[in-house]
Amino acid sequence: MYGMVIDLNKCLGCQACSIACKMLWSNRDGAQHMWFTIVETRPGQGYPYNWLEKTKKKAGMDDKDYENVPKFDYSKLHNNPGKGLPNIGINLKNGPNYYEDMGRGKNVNDEWFFYLPMICMHCEDPACMKACPAKAIYKTREGFVLIDSEKCEGAGECIDACPYKRIFFNKNMDKAEKCIFCFPRLEKGEPPACVITCPGKARFFGKLNDKDSPVYKLVKKYKVAVPLLSEFNTKPKVFYIPPVMVAENKIDDKGNSSGERIDYTYLEELFGKKVKEIKKILDNERNKSHSELIDVLTGFPTWKL
Ligand code: SF4
Repeated sequence: MYGMVIDLNKCLGCQACSIACKMLWSNRDGAQHMWFTIVETRPGQGYPYNWLEKTKKKAGMDDKDYENVPKFDYSKLHNNPGKGLPNIGINLKNGPNYYEDMGRGKNVNDEWFFYLPMICMHCEDPACMKACPAKAIYKTREGFVLIDSEKCEGAGECIDACPYKRIFFNKNMDKAEKCIFCFPRLEKGEPPACVITCPGKARFFGKLNDKDSPVYKLVKKYKVAVPLLSEFNTKPKVFYIPPVMVAENKIDDKGNSSGERIDYTYLEELFGKKVKEIKKILDNERNKSHSELIDVLTGFPTWKL
């Protein structure tokens, strides 16, 4: 059973993973709005637009929540120097990461945000699978959640049912599409594209029940990686190390450190009540002269397929 861990203390928000995935899987007609993996800024609206708020309200997604495919008029862009954003006839406000890096805070000293890479969680108990009237969604032996496009009838129920909103509709094909955990790459012994392209080495991939695998160590042995929004009860197999290291060092007016920068209540809303415990484990391990956990976290994320 494969899983992924994403260390939010290492994610740079560079979108290398998003672009690698896009170029590999959704760089084609009808798929322009599909970002099987994407890095959101949190606090922030996310992509699709405000997906978390919609899930909480049990509201369905609609077309406006996805990117408007921009058609730039480059002549207008080039001929409008110094006048702010030129009117190029598009509205990108629901596009991916329009409010990137805005964060929260009153002034520059207490402003904070962090990056949250999103991807299909390849849940053990997938809400999308239960909702599909055509029974086109299935789990493989390795634990990947896949859509059989031959069977998919384009009902779109899965898109609203997924609490993380990680399924996209291809209008050209009348089919639902999603992340496939790069299983064709795995079959060749290669890790998912988002893992291998991450310059921050923030993503770890491997077998969840293999004691030598970094994901086993991070999730099961040291228990520093937890699911996102576990109250959705879909049992994700993507886990996150909360950004507790970047939560430090709020600077006061005199330039002194004055405690935590990130709002822990917000972190607990996303990652559960163990956030402070995880911080303690990491602090404790950092203070040791040698720590297997820190070796895993700072080393090149390896995998055994
Ligand atoms: Fe299905 Fe959503 Fe879970 Fe992925 S994250 S398996 S799309 S319910």
